[in-house]
Amino acid sequence: MSHQVLHHNLFGSIVMKALTFHGKQTVHYESVPDPEIISPLDAIVQVNRAGICGSDLHPYHEREKGLDHGTVMGHELVGEIVETGQEVRRFKKGDEILSPFSNNCGRCFYCQRGLTCRCIYGHCYGWVQEGKGLQGVQAEFVRVPLADSTLVARPENVTPEEGLLLADILPTGYFCADMADIRPDGVYAVVGCGPVGLMAIVGAFEHGAEVVYAIDSIPERLSHAQKFGAIPIDFKSGDPVSVIRDATDGRGTDAVLEVVGNESAGRLAADLVRPCGIISAAGFHTEEHIAFSPMEAYDKNLTFKAGRCPARYYMERLIPMVQQRKYDLTSIISHRMPLSEGVIAYDIFDKKLEACTKVVLQPGS
Ligand SMILES: [Zn+2]
Ligand SMILES: [Zn+2]
Repeated sequence: MSHQVLHHNLFGSIVMKALTFHGKQTVHYESVPDPEIISPLDAIVQVNRAGICGSDLHPYHEREKGLDHGTVMGHELVGEIVETGQEVRRFKKGDEILSPFSNNCGRCFYCQRGLTCRCIYGHCYGWVQEGKGLQGVQAEFVRVPLADSTLVARPENVTPEEGLLLADILPTGYFCADMADIRPDGVYAVVGCGPVGLMAIVGAFEHGAEVVYAIDSIPERLSHAQKFGAIPIDFKSGDPVSVIRDATDGRGTDAVLEVVGNESAGRLAADLVRPCGIISAAGFHTEEHIAFSPMEAYDKNLTFKAGRCPARYYMERLIPMVQQRKYDLTSIISHRMPLSEGVIAYDIFDKKLEACTKVVLQPGS
């Protein structure tokens, strides 16, 4: 059945299936209203693949509060256009697309400077608060506002799974490395080797790093890190601070790429970084305070950079790197599951069961 047929069926608009938020650690697989074109700049996309991301776990655990119950979860997708608003010019029905995790206008002060993450008209998929915002992509269909400036046509030699990594984790990891002012003679540490951390390792090498330590405690994540070229440190069997200080004449790293987003990771980053170094924090933080004091920052001449990645800006720049296939990026995908198994997929990803690193959901499979 085509989307349009579903759209106009006689049984009202409750037709598609989606994963929706219903409170702490509660996601439902249920029928929700089919998305509709609201603005002439909108497109409706049929989701072919949707990722579950570490940042989905913040609302899932209510560390990030305010998400309306019933909101469709998720922000990582690849898909196909099934309907376009009257003013959409670059795309038509049937086009396969990539999308960053937030939409953007392409014209405002921020978009013109490549800071698409702070577009004044931008929203992240999967965040609706007090009725305002954008539904998520862990669904059969999603409405994409500002489609022309947000979406990118999927190049033929980028697979859907590679395209899915371009939605968030690859640009975010690369951005984390970009903020770290990497030089070939430096020593770097990545704190947290989940999907974004693994992409940050790749990003660090792509920026010219030669020595990258990878810190985590989960064996399969450390082994992925090692495959990408990093030196793994299991913090449960050794102290990363002393290992790295021993290797750097007691100085510490030139920069730390911190992608975990909690206080202990922030504290570790502050302990690892050398005087006049950089902490680059691309993990979403939900704490109220930074893990180090202003006095410590002064005494160490610290530079702290943080924030959401302008994924749309990086996406096009990273496509050639994905096409070169220098790294087996999709090897980090551990689970491929139908959307209908999304509830259990959240549990597996959250609890890191079955050596879970990254989950890809497939609607309609
Ligand atoms: Zn994500
Ligand atoms: Zn904008």
